[in-house]
Parts: sequence; structure tokens; C-alpha cells
Amino acid sequence: MAKPTIKNQGFTTRNVHSDRAGRPEHGVLHKPVHPSVAYGYEDARQLAAVFQGKRKGYAYGRQANPTVSALQQRISAMEGGIGSIALATGMAAISALMLSLLKAGDHLISSAFLFGNTNSFLRTLQGFGIEVDFVDATSVDAVAERQRANTRIVFVETIANPVTQVADLEGIGEFCSRHGLLYVVDNTMTSPHLFQPQQVGAGLVVNSLTKYIGGHGNALGGAITDTGNFDWRGYPNILDIYRVPEANQWGLVQMRKKGLRDMGASLAPEAAHTLAVGSESLPLRMDQACANAMALARLCQDHRAVTKVCYPGLVEHPQHQRARKLFRAFGALFSIELAPGIDCFDFLNSLEIVVSSSNLGDTRSLGIPVAHTIYHEMGPERRKSMGVADSMLRFSIGIEDQQDLLADFSQALDRCPRG
Ligand SMILES: *Cc1c(COP(=O)(O)O)cnc(C)c1O
Repeated sequence: MAKPTIKNQGFTTRNVHSDRAGRPEHGVLHKPVHPSVAYGYEDARQLAAVFQGKRKGYAYGRQANPTVSALQQRISAMEGGIGSIALATGMAAISALMLSLLKAGDHLISSAFLFGNTNSFLRTLQGFGIEVDFVDATSVDAVAERQRANTRIVFVETIANPVTQVADLEGIGEFCSRHGLLYVVDNTMTSPHLFQPQQVGAGLVVNSLTKYIGGHGNALGGAITDTGNFDWRGYPNILDIYRVPEANQWGLVQMRKKGLRDMGASLAPEAAHTLAVGSESLPLRMDQACANAMALARLCQDHRAVTKVCYPGLVEHPQHQRARKLFRAFGALFSIELAPGIDCFDFLNSLEIVVSSSNLGDTRSLGIPVAHTIYHEMGPERRKSMGVADSMLRFSIGIEDQQDLLADFSQALDRCPRG
């Protein structure tokens, strides 16, 4: 029955046909949505075998669900990993990862340029006796300086938001592998279409599926992928009961039990289906959105009303060469600072296509005044240290026709008062 498989299929071919490869019920082309919470067995011994991990199967929806499993396989294939765990949100993925792999007395080194809620969560960890150092991850030297005997994890994002710093992904990967440290990369901003962190030695990859992978702003989700790069036998926090015969599964097993089962932020099957369908067009959407962002960043850079543009695609960007080397394209997010005297709210309101909204990775272009919203809680001093000016606007560019976006930005920029 098995069809001959074409070797080395591309990203989209594999993704679009991934449900079929799992031989879904009735030959359906989409893995069905299975809303059932529990699963019945004719032989009670089978139920026990599933509980004990001796038999593949489903028992209770908080721990596993067939629709969610199909999505996990897609994510693993996209990231080139050995297994993935899907959770309710990207933050659920990050918190489950940290809380199941770290304990009091451990030390974590994190990039200082982080998604705001991740930053806030890592500060919560500090209250539980986990030491966290925030460093300028654009250079591996800053990471190396903070290494200690109890350092367990190094955590970075690919392209930070809103200032778009690009972490020293290769350098930190080499450092972590040399010292046996678990290297965790949040790949949300690049998505596996632009970059696969396993290629720079990441042991675990986090994705907010809410953003580019789902891609339509209509479902929340998150995932952790084990790339197979990390040797869990050297990780001291794996509990004896989770040291299964295949050592490459230790991390996934412990995160599944402690992070997903016990903490309980399970992904709903309906959301898993929505995200899986959305993911099929990831490369098409991402290519268009990145090209749009590039064109708009250039337009803004050349305009008198804009004093600064943060976008890795511009040659002036401090990590432009690194981004060019590592990523297929430069991402779909950029930020600008407006010239003195131009009100950022007025500017945002004068854009007709761009929606004032906090999300990113949608098909629509969205803009937000950073200091007044997502970075409001941080206060002026921390904002300054993170390079966030009061007039900064962040744009998540969508897949609209490029000439329409260019026309919209042009009219809004031209309407800005002269200083
Ligand atoms: C949005 C985001 C998250 C959190 O994802 P949610 O699905 O909103 O919980 C984590 N990391 C990055 C880089 C993000 O942009």
C-alpha cells in the first residue's frame, strides 16, 4: 500500500501532505477534529498499558489528542526535530519548558531583548529561586561572561521585537555545545520557513503558533520542539522515572508529564486544526510579508518624517550581515522612530490599511505605539535601556498588495508636519 516516497521533498510539499502521511481515518485529507476528552478501551489492560507508556494510545485530553498529535508532527517536520509538544499558547510553551526543566538553585542566561511577556515570566522565575541573568545576546561574549557551574539553559530569540536585534545564534550555539548547556531558541519571529535553529545547535526550539505558523490571527497556540541536538544524559534535572531507554526522549517525556500534564495548558483540538490549516501557506505568506516589510522599511528610511528604522534587511542594521547569512529573508516586522514633533498616535491614525493592534504575524498589516502599550508596564528607564523611544511605532506587515501598502505609508508620511 505504501506509496513510493520522493526523497528530500520541500518544506511546503511535506507540510501540505503531512496529515495524509499519518493515514487519517477514511482517507480524509485533513486530520479530523477530535473533541473527545476521554478514550474507551474494550480491554481494561490496554488502558493500563497506555497509562504506563507500554502501548501507543490516548487516555485523557489534557495529555494527548489525535488532532493535536497531527499538528505536533507537522511542527517537528518544519523544524527538522525529533518530536514536539503543542500547548495552548506560546507563553504556555515557554513556561512549561522552564518550569519542567529548571529547579531552585539553577541559573539561566537569557537575552535581554525579549518578547515582553517572556521577560516578565523569567522575572517570576527569579522569585522561585532560579537565578536569571539578562545579557546582550548579540554577542556570545556576553553569554560566556555570565556562565557559572549551575548554568543550565541559555535562552534567546532569533530577531527581537521591537528593536530587531539579531542574536549571535551561531556563536552561542557553539558555546553551548562546547559546555554541554541546553540552548533554547524562540523561533517565533523568523518561523521555520526563514530559519531552523537546529542548524545552529539549538537543543529546543519554541514557536508561538499564534503568529506566523497559524498566520491568520484566529487561534492561539505554542510548541516546543526537541531538535535531537542535545544529549539529555548530561542534564542533571531529569527525574529517574523519565529516564526511558531512548535517552533522546528524556526531555520530551519530562516536559510532557511535568509541563503539559501537570500544568495543564493543553491546546484545544479545534485550535490545533485551525493552526494546522493556517500553516500550509506559511512560506507563501512569509515571502510576501517579508518583501512588503523590506519595501516599506526602505520607504520610511528615505523619508524626512522618520529618524530611525529598525529592520535587519537594511545594510545599516548592526547585525545585517548575520541576518543575511542565517535567514532566508529578514522578517516581516520593523519599527520606526518619528522625527521630533510628530505624534505617533496621529501617524498611526492616518494610515488607512494598517490596523492599530497588538498582534503580529497576521495576514493584515498591524501597527502599535510601543512605549504606550506593550512596553508600558516596564517604565521609562527600562524602556530606554532596551532602545525603545517614546515615538517608536512597531509594524507587523501582512500580505497585502505591495503597491497599496507603499501608497498608504507614503500618504501618511507626507502628511506629517515639518519640524
Ligand atoms: C507572541 C510571542 C510569544 C508568546 O506567544 P503567545 O502565543 O502570544 O502566548 C513568545 N515569543 C515571541 C517571540 C512572541 O512574539
